[in-house]
Amino acid sequence: MRNVTPKFSDQELFHLAEKFGTPYFLIDEAALRRTVSELEQAYQDFKGPFRVAYSTKANYNPTVIKTFVSEGIMFDLTASNELYFLLKCGGSSENVIYTSITETMAEYEQVMKLGVRKIVVSSYNGLLNLIEARARVGDDVEVLIRVNPEVSVKAELRFSMKHGKFGVPFDSADEDSAMSLLRKILSTPGMSFEGFHFHLGSQIEDPSCFAVALEKLESFVLGARRELGSFPIRTIDMGGGLPAPYGRTVPTASDFSSQVLGQLNSMIESLGDKFTLIVESGRFLSAESTIMVTRIVNVKKFDETKYVYVDAGYHNLLDSALLKHEYPVEVIPGGSSSPRKSVLSGRLCDALDIFPTSNRSKLGGAEPGKLVVFRDVGAYSFVIGSQFHCQPKPYILMRTTQGSHIVVRKGQDLDELFSEEGGDLTNHKHQ
Ligand SMILES: *Cc1c(COP(=O)(O)O)cnc(C)c1O
Repeated sequence: MRNVTPKFSDQELFHLAEKFGTPYFLIDEAALRRTVSELEQAYQDFKGPFRVAYSTKANYNPTVIKTFVSEGIMFDLTASNELYFLLKCGGSSENVIYTSITETMAEYEQVMKLGVRKIVVSSYNGLLNLIEARARVGDDVEVLIRVNPEVSVKAELRFSMKHGKFGVPFDSADEDSAMSLLRKILSTPGMSFEGFHFHLGSQIEDPSCFAVALEKLESFVLGARRELGSFPIRTIDMGGGLPAPYGRTVPTASDFSSQVLGQLNSMIESLGDKFTLIVESGRFLSAESTIMVTRIVNVKKFDETKYVYVDAGYHNLLDSALLKHEYPVEVIPGGSSSPRKSVLSGRLCDALDIFPTSNRSKLGGAEPGKLVVFRDVGAYSFVIGSQFHCQPKPYILMRTTQGSHIVVRKGQDLDELFSEEGGDLTNHKHQ
């Protein structure tokens, strides 16, 4: 039985609403830590070393990063600014697996100078840039190749379609293929080949795509060794995509691992290498820990419809608006469900500012003054938020494992927002 979703008392939520204003985000530290152990347990029968990597882009709040640093896990970083955050939070570049999208020489040089050694390349030009950066820094680098296994993925976001943005195909007539990258890495002094990385999608609901991707990878490696001679596989990084529940039944971390563990263990035999397995995750590790608490500011009824207006909007949960993604919502304190259809409306003057709801949403008893809680909002939420409509950034709070509530990001006040938008500049007077 899973025991991750945090519980909060009504009294606790109202008390924090009085103290910090609404909307606010509340992170449960214990839930963050439980997802790490849930993922580690799922792979305990893997016969080689296993590492969880937190995909920092999902939620880069420094307190969240520090929590994961203290769990001793790795960090999947996709931008050098994330490395700055990680190092400021006491993390170590030894625990970084770095996957750049831009792959410039300057970026590779910068992160290598800060001690990053495990770097995932996704293009031939990127590899040439890394070779140049390595020569400048003068230290060894452990290179992984990001492959696009071109498998079909059942998920909210799919990254593994043919000719997709990320990674390279196994083979192709062009230089942007795993085969040609591999050939170049193996023939370049100072480049140590580490292994392969793929990232199939986000909120993946059917684990079978991982099995297909691993099968393709295994036969690619066996074929490449026949052509290029023996090379070791030290790491296989299966990327992210583990789903958060969002009020529905989704496969658990062990549902995923049970689909691939047999295969991974047999790859240790077939490849003859006790490779390290890395599973990256942003959404699964961070989503469930966090709620957003909003206050109902108005209701409006026509015939069968009841509009419920809250003081948050899609600027707080932009990702859900882009993906038309439903969070579990609940009125606090709840009441009997209304025969009318409830429409949960945000505060923005934009017809698109309606939160997706379904019959799973608990909007009964909605009246002004009550709260509406959005669950599972820890991933890709406030990190994508905006200040649309002059809306200052809300407070982010954390309930620690000791049960106290701490501020992990101060809410912005309106003067700060005004000033950050340039309101206090005096040197560019309107002509
Ligand atoms: C975003 C990202 C992840 C995390 O994806 P989730 O769906 O949040 O688990 C993992 N790996 C890479 C390379 C990513 O860009």
